[in-house]
Amino acid sequence: MSTESKRITHLVGGGYWTGVAERTSEVYNPATGQVSGELDLASAATVDEVVKVAHETSKTWGQTSLTKRAQVLFAYRELVNRDKERIAAIITAEHGKVLSDALGEVTRGLEVIEFACGIPHLMKGGYSEGVSTKVDVYSIRQPLGVCAVISPFNFPAMVPMWFVPIAVACGNSVVIKPSEKDPSAANAMAELWKEAGLPDGVVNVVHGDKEAVDRLLEHPDIKSVSFVGSTPIAKYVYENGTKNGKRVQALGGAKNHMIVLPDADLDLAADAAVNAGFGSAGERCMAISALVAVEPIADELISKIKDRMAKLKTGDGTRGCDMGPLVTGQHRDKVAGYVAAGVEEGAELVVDGREGDFDGAADGFWLGPTLFDKVAPEMSIYTDEIFGPVLSVLRTPSYDAALAIVNANPYGNGTAIFTNDGGAARRFQNEVEVGMVGINVPIPVPMAYYSFGGWKNSLFGDTHAHGTEGVHFFTRGKVVTSRWLDPSHGGINLGFPTHD
Ligand code: NAD
Repeated sequence: MSTESKRITHLVGGGYWTGVAERTSEVYNPATGQVSGELDLASAATVDEVVKVAHETSKTWGQTSLTKRAQVLFAYRELVNRDKERIAAIITAEHGKVLSDALGEVTRGLEVIEFACGIPHLMKGGYSEGVSTKVDVYSIRQPLGVCAVISPFNFPAMVPMWFVPIAVACGNSVVIKPSEKDPSAANAMAELWKEAGLPDGVVNVVHGDKEAVDRLLEHPDIKSVSFVGSTPIAKYVYENGTKNGKRVQALGGAKNHMIVLPDADLDLAADAAVNAGFGSAGERCMAISALVAVEPIADELISKIKDRMAKLKTGDGTRGCDMGPLVTGQHRDKVAGYVAAGVEEGAELVVDGREGDFDGAADGFWLGPTLFDKVAPEMSIYTDEIFGPVLSVLRTPSYDAALAIVNANPYGNGTAIFTNDGGAARRFQNEVEVGMVGINVPIPVPMAYYSFGGWKNSLFGDTHAHGTEGVHFFTRGKVVTSRWLDPSHGGINLGFPTHD
């Protein structure tokens, strides 16, 4: 641990945990390669301690009026907005993404808080008067209890915010289990709830790895699990969480394709490919990693992309660069390994990000933007989610061949088509088997009042994140049939209730 390394621990019941962790892990500053923090990893017993607090507070928070809950959400929105630069700096220091990108992530998270401010309207049920003589029926939605949110490293603030504000607004308590690679943003965001007037213990953060996740998946007082991460772990979380009777939404990995048709504006498409391929060093679940060029435009498009890549500056996220380092040295080496595999498998390496001039400390986890041409669907750089700044170009003779590639892929998170033909775009939105579609928009992340989620191996469960699907996920429906008797109506009838 370096002299500047800090201890990072769980936040429970409105304060930091004071126990002694049996296990810890190191947190790095990816731009320097130095250890910046030592993270407490929760044992199953520590998870139990945190869930117990959350469970107790859920009983009173769930009974708190909608007006009061909305007021807390409004106050929280102001505080996150006030502190967004500070939170962005925390993200950059542990994730590595450039400051402007980190700020963008906080801003997208703020939109979910703003959506959750409308909770009194969102939780309204229906009412039917007089379904039978003097009988009324109405529906209500009630909180679940304690909800677990397990998040990945790549959006340490935004992904928790996809779920936490809505879960809280719906009257639940929450236990957040952030990624152990960049845990501090979740703590910073959670601290602000107290200042917003949320009762202690409604939002808690427990740090850890598989041991903590496994305990959350089996704990009887955890009623729902919102998971975001790689596909194998998402599948594991879904299978084990549902086996234990929990409501689970598990968002997994991605391989996002961008189809460019011959009639597209190639400058717009080249800008989009570079922005969506290399933003956040390709460590976005909605990053474009496969560009499907419908001939004859591939040569021209690749030349335009190459020109733009030559101007990108990779370096320390605090210095105004375009792209930061990768999150860990191990991940950087894994991505560089894919670049080597792509060359071995016969793809044409157009730009090699392993060679580069990086604006940062020598030990930072650097890898520059990389471009492959003539990639075939069986190559590992195509079949695997690389999650780094590696863009692969596949050439196809027709729209049908391009669509077949996208639909054959086991992932279905995001996709985009670039064209000036409205009919082709409309056909694509109908035919493509992917959850989020962009038309001349490379990263089609829905606004907070729509729901975010992929298809196929990119999401396990029935419910997407935020929007009205989020409200449904964090509440249970109940239907009440009521009759207030008057003296003229009554009597014995053993038949099944019908409406008269
Ligand atoms: P990850 O799967 O390694 O980790 C995600 C979470 O699972 C972390 O909190 C981690 O501590 C926990 N975890 C890791 N190994 C575990 C195990 N064996 N058992 C139980 N829990 C475990 O993912 P990551 O590397 O942090 O994030 C990148 C991945 O997340 C990519 O695959 C990316 O596509 C995906 N992602 C998907 C979306 C989406 O919306 N679909 C959004 C963001 C990220």
